[in-house]
Parts: sequence; C-alpha cells; structure tokens
Amino acid sequence: MRVAIVGAGFGGLCMAVHLARKGIPHVVFEKGDGVGGTWRDNTYPGAGCDIPSHLYSFSFEPWCDWSRRYPGQPEILAYLEMVAARHRVRPRFGTEVTELAHDGSGWLVVTPGGVERFDVVVTAVGQLNRPRVPEIPGAETFRGEAFHSARWGSRDLAGKRVAVVGTGSSAAQLVPSLAGTARQVDVYQRTPSWVLPKADGAFSPLTRAVFRRVPGAHRLYREWQFAYLENTVFPALVEGWSTGLIRRAGLAHLRSQVADPGLRRRLTPGYPPGCKRIVLDSRFYPALTRHDVELITDPITRIVPEGVETPAGVRQAEVIVYATGFHTTEFLLPMTVTGTCGRDLREQWRDGAEAYLGMAAPGFPNLFFLYGPNTNLGHNSIVHMLEAQVGYVMRCLHLIARRGRMEVTEAAMSAYTTALNRALAATVWNQGCRSWYKTEAGRITNNWPRSARDYRRLTRRPRPGAYNFGAGR
Ligand SMILES: Cc1cc2nc3c(=O)[nH]c(=O)nc-3n(C[C@H](O)[C@H](O)[C@H](O)COP(=O)(O)OP(=O)(O)OC[C@H]3O[C@@H](n4cnc5c(N)ncnc54)[C@H](O)[C@@H]3O)c2cc1C
Repeated sequence: MRVAIVGAGFGGLCMAVHLARKGIPHVVFEKGDGVGGTWRDNTYPGAGCDIPSHLYSFSFEPWCDWSRRYPGQPEILAYLEMVAARHRVRPRFGTEVTELAHDGSGWLVVTPGGVERFDVVVTAVGQLNRPRVPEIPGAETFRGEAFHSARWGSRDLAGKRVAVVGTGSSAAQLVPSLAGTARQVDVYQRTPSWVLPKADGAFSPLTRAVFRRVPGAHRLYREWQFAYLENTVFPALVEGWSTGLIRRAGLAHLRSQVADPGLRRRLTPGYPPGCKRIVLDSRFYPALTRHDVELITDPITRIVPEGVETPAGVRQAEVIVYATGFHTTEFLLPMTVTGTCGRDLREQWRDGAEAYLGMAAPGFPNLFFLYGPNTNLGHNSIVHMLEAQVGYVMRCLHLIARRGRMEVTEAAMSAYTTALNRALAATVWNQGCRSWYKTEAGRITNNWPRSARDYRRLTRRPRPGAYNFGAGR
C-alpha cells in the first residue's frame, strides 16, 4: 500500500511518523520550502500559540523544555523541525499538489512535476493556510508595501508608518510588538474582539527539570491542562452556560487596561463572547492606549497611493499589513479533487464542506482529510484532534488491507450531518456574528460542537457499517 500525504504541518508530520512506524511506504508533498505549516508561515513579530504548548505538541514526542506557557513561533517551529528530523520525515518540498483524481483503481496525485499513483491519500492542508486579503478599492494603487500577516517573512518595520487592518488574534499579537518600534501604528477595526488576559509566564529551570526527571510529572501537567480546557472553557463556548462569566471577565479586562471610556466603548463587542474566536492577549489593549497607536473604527472606503481612506479622511501609511485571516471555509481549494464516477468535491461541497467525522466523504474512497470540516476547536488543542484523526486513519488502513477499498456510505454521512447540525445549532457560534467558522450563508463548516474528549471517543475505531468496501485497494 502506498500513501500520499499532502502538507507537512502538525497534521502531515503526525501522519508520516505513524506510517513510518508501521513501515507503510508514503510520500509527503509540501508546497512550501520547509516543515511546520502555520508555524513556518506566521513569522510576524509576536506570533505565538494561545493553547499552552505542553498540550499543543504531540503526545508521542513530549517536550519538557518549552521556555514558557505560550511560546512564540520560533520555538514551535523548532519543535516541529526537531520532530521531522528525529523521525526522518523528508517531504518533497516545493511540490504543490494541484489535483487528486480517482481513476477507478487508485488515486492519481498531480503536481507540476508529474502524476503519481497512490492507494490512499491523506490531506493535511490545514484550515488556516491560505491568507485572505479583502478586496478594497484602490488597493493596487498603494505606493508602499502591502502584505498579509502570514507572509511577513523577515521584514523589519522599525521607523515606518504602518496600517494594520484587522483586530483578530494575529493583529492582537503583532500590534504590541510593532508599537514603539514603528513610527506610528494605525489599527483598523471592523468588529471588536472579546479579549481575555493571557496567563503567560516562563518556566523556571527547576520546573523544567521536574518535567524531565520526575516520572509522570509532565504527563500529569499535560492532562491537567487538557481537563481544565475541557471542563471550563468548553462549556462556556459550546454550551453557553457560563458565557456570562466570560463576558464579565472580558469587560473587567478591558476596564482594567483602558482608562478612556470612549476607547473602551469602541472596543466593546456587541455579540456573545466565543461567537468569534476569543483573543487571548494581555498586551493588545495597553498597546492601543499608546500615543503612537491609533484605533480607527471608521470603515475603510479606499486605499490611495499614500495610505488608507475612511470617511474621516486619508491617513498616511508606508506599509499596510492585512491581519485579515484566512480562506477557511473553502477546504482543499484550489486543489481539484475528483472521486469515483467523476464526482467533483468542490461541487459536492457547494453549500458548505461536510465530511464524516471530518475525515471522509462519499464518492471519495480511500481519501482522508486531517483537520477537515467541523474539526476545529475554539477551546482546546488542534494537535489533540489531529492525533485522534491519524489514529483513526491508521485503523482504516488496516481495514483497507483486509477488506479492500473503503468509502463512507451516503446514509452514514447524512445521519452524521443531521446530528452535527443539531449540536451546532445550540452553540455560541450560531448566535449573531460573522466569523471564520462560517460560510457566507451562515453554515458552520469549521467547528466541532462537542468536547475534544468526545471526538477522541468517536474516532477510537472505524465503524465498518459506515463504510462500503470494494474490490482492490
Ligand atoms: C497564527 C496562528 C496561531 C494559531 N495558534 C493555535 C493554537 O494556539 N492552538 C491551536 O490548537 N491551533 C492554533 N492555530 C491553528 C493551526 O493552524 C493548527 O493548530 C495547526 O497548525 C494545523 O496544522 P495542519 O498541519 O493541519 O495545517 P497547517 O499547519 O496549515 O499546514 C498545512 C501544510 O500544507 C501545505 N499545503 C497546503 N496545500 C498544499 C498543496 N496543495 N500541496 C502541497 N502542500 C500543501 C502548506 O504549505 C502547509 O505546510 C493557529 C493558527 C494560526 C494561523
């Protein structure tokens, strides 16, 4: 059996390690020039995780030496590079998969370099991989440099007049790092985020030594973090019963950090906390109160050669940073995916992507998605979800070897979607806001509505009744 993996972020690496352990031949295709995915791309100053890293790392490759609770991008990328090196994962870099096509007996994987056949394909292309830049009239006329936060590279904006568009998680991380270095930072806000303090802190050498040397200490700490997020943050976001507590905590945080009532009013969200992703940051509000940082809530009408125009006039900018998120609901695009009988996945997902357990779609045998539709979390580590998915795919490979090609049934898909939609309808994500979790039409295609623990339980082993098995692999 040969397996193709598309992508070498957390998901693709995890899959490759597990396949290698079982001696299953595989190829990892990666369009970038290194491993790490999200953590290779997001090099903007201040980039870091908002799930504690002891949890936001692989269970099979625990790391006791995280420097702090929420480390920055360089440390997370170094961890992923270490995992790839230690497990000898050697992707084909600079190789974008443009098309996947089932020819009746296997998958053809198309790249600019040619076509190769595989028995099984696992996509690990992430949900936050393709930057979304809003279409603003006049953008092409801008005289300075304009780029997306995930395309920062190694730029240094010291002494520049910078316009940051957006106030989500990336903006909240990069604005405090720019403030004081850049000459002026203008922050353009469409909708305010709920912001909660980030209980960050460095681990002392002693704590790290305990994690390394005391048997079970690291595992216990990790499990405690997991249980905390499952038992406190999850009920608030998904079940909504403690939304009031989060609202109060968010408003108290705002009051304690912003003295100006006018600025506070403009930073107060008008939707329930959690509906959009909550920003975890203790440095964002103080940065907005600086004399060289300006929050602009007038809508952007145009980009002009010398800066950004709103109804209040033009503000000069030498650089525009779009911290405007990603194309999140168009899973797998721009790849073309054609299943049996010429089924087009884009067409099948026209009204919103859906996949059985987020991993399989009818008409697409032996194709598995990691971090696929409805497997994002608002409260816990995506690495937990990815590991559950990789474990599930490994068990599917075992079934494929025994029983032949495997395809989820329409009936299983439809029953799953009905139950999923019922659960999603009751969540906070469904309560009056636009977010990256939803399509334009309002269908929630990205988030998992139950606990991460539930997901692990449901994916423990494939239910053979949910699949048709065919001749050959
Ligand atoms: C700034 C930022 C902070 C985040 N913080 C957290 C956090 O704290 N906790 C958390 O749980 N999650 C966080 N996330 C979500 C994060 O994306 C996931 O946790 C995780 O990194 C996803 O891993 P992945 O392998 O599925 O996808 P990615 O990391 O996106 O990797 C996908 C890979 O696939 C490659 N690829 C895509 N298409 C193709 C193609 N057609 N051919 C070949 N290669 C392709 C890409 O180049 C990329 O390397 C964050 C996301 C961002 C953007």
